[in-house]
Amino acid sequence: MTRGIGLYVHIPFCASRCPYCDFATAPARTVLRAAYLAALREEIAREGRMLDRPRIRTLYVGGGTPSLLDPSEIESVARSLREAFDLRPREATVEVNPATLDRERLGAWLELGVTRISLGAQSFDARGLRALGRTHQSQDSTTAFMAARDAGLDVNLDLIFGWPGQTVADWQRDLESAIALRPDHVSCYPLELRLDPEASVANWPGGGWPVLERWRQRTAAAQPDDAGVARLYRLAEGVLGRSGYRHYEIANWARPRKRSLHNLGYWRDRDWLGVGAGAHTHLGGVRSANPIELRTYIAYARSGSARSADLESDPRAEAAMLALRLDTGLDLRRYGIRFGDEAASRVRLALTDVSRARLVRWSGDRASLTARGRLLASEVFVRLLP
Ligand code: SF4
Repeated sequence: MTRGIGLYVHIPFCASRCPYCDFATAPARTVLRAAYLAALREEIAREGRMLDRPRIRTLYVGGGTPSLLDPSEIESVARSLREAFDLRPREATVEVNPATLDRERLGAWLELGVTRISLGAQSFDARGLRALGRTHQSQDSTTAFMAARDAGLDVNLDLIFGWPGQTVADWQRDLESAIALRPDHVSCYPLELRLDPEASVANWPGGGWPVLERWRQRTAAAQPDDAGVARLYRLAEGVLGRSGYRHYEIANWARPRKRSLHNLGYWRDRDWLGVGAGAHTHLGGVRSANPIELRTYIAYARSGSARSADLESDPRAEAAMLALRLDTGLDLRRYGIRFGDEAASRVRLALTDVSRARLVRWSGDRASLTARGRLLASEVFVRLLP
């Protein structure tokens, strides 16, 4: 672990629940807030001891809405992180929900060494924000963006496309509004509505799954169809590409030298530790995940029990799919060295098969998705499963 690991810290609290969201979230005012943060600090301390105070190469504080932590809460988590790890990240990111970033909080994040924010703007269109059930206004995103820039931070803007009623012209305007701010990095996600309860309701009392399910069914019925979503995606590729952003991952574009180093660690199948409810870990080729439900997580963190490995995940399939998400693609020669000739031949065969449908292109031993393949990536990935 000499080159260090990535560290993900999960802060689940949100001011309200966005109805499309499937992350492990909980109400900001939950009575468990203090207990959760205490458990998180315990988990951080324990992992630091067990891993022998590893060097943290990249730090990502996500959620939930980490930007609504109070300055004193940020400071206490920061103290735990510094005590447990050799915290010298090349990049430290915090996710920010517009309208939650004030000067004091920003100061506390800067103290921790944050270099970048990921701003969940989602749309600059009032109809889009309404359709997504967001509670912030477009101006909040601009204000938070400016505050981060004034503090010298890099900024990633998160956008969602494919909301009910969205036209090509609407999306074009959204992209242009984003580019006008000159962010370093832009993420564009299609609105995907998973129709099962799991993470999105685990910690929210009242208004459980039936309420969300009704919203999702109604929204799904009014979304653009697959061809419409594909047009929106292609528009993003064109507009962002012409504006100097490199399309380096299926849903991510960056200016030169501004790719997300932390997320590159995921896609390159490197080692990372995740702490907090629902956080995933990948260390030494083994994947694991923490409990999503807050009480269960708190009990787990306090018990000191080891993380339980996810025995269902297949490291060979995961590594191939993750590499293909990147524009640099999958190097089958290196893949063979890591997983053996038989695994490499299997992947080569599957990818050769889909290259006939113009989903994958080859350059020597390296396979990468074509523009069509990025649109239909799930068609490619399903062939890589064991
Ligand atoms: S989308 Fe973001 S702000 Fe909304 S519920 Fe999910 S994590 Fe919270």
